[in-house]
Formats: sequence, C-alpha cells, structure tokens
Amino acid sequence: MKCKYCLSDHTVSDGYRINKKNNTKVKKFYCKDCKKYFSEQYEKKYTEEFKNKVIDCHNSRMSTRDIAKIFNISPSTVLYWVKKNFPALKIH
Ligand SMILES: [Zn+2]
Repeated sequence: MKCKYCLSDHTVSDGYRINKKNNTKVKKFYCKDCKKYFSEQYEKKYTEEFKNKVIDCHNSRMSTRDIAKIFNISPSTVLYWVKKNFPALKIH
C-alpha cells in the first residue's frame, strides 16, 4: 500500500477501524517515512452486521429505495447484497 501523502512504499498496516457514522470498516496504515496515518478509504468495506440489517429490512418488504435512504447507501448496493445472499430470490 502506497502512502497517500508521500507515495512511499514503507507503510505498515495498523489494523481496522470502524467508522461509526456509516458503520463501514476502513483499513488503517502508517507511513514510516512521513510518519502519518492514512486509511484505505476508496475501498468501502461494510461490516457483516450492517449487511444483515439491510437484508433484514428487505425481507420485511421495505422498498429498495427506502432502505438505501435509511442506510445511506445506493439502491444498487442493496440489490447486490440481497442477490448475493438469496440468489434464487426474485427482486421486487
Ligand atoms: Zn508517507
């Protein structure tokens, strides 16, 4: 992982951090050269718990658009998770 400040390769992983605002998991890194911390933000990772909540809402017949609004994610993300968990399910 290249440092986003100085582009050095001398970085080490510093574990994960949960962003409480949208419940996403971000991987943290530390740069040995410029001694700064940065996180892998472009690759959004959601926790399993968060995904399950979204899928639960879908199972209780909430509309994809409403779910997306509540959880602040895109409707296509909602559909993607639901399809992945229930491949045989017909999306309504
Ligand atoms: Zn750096």
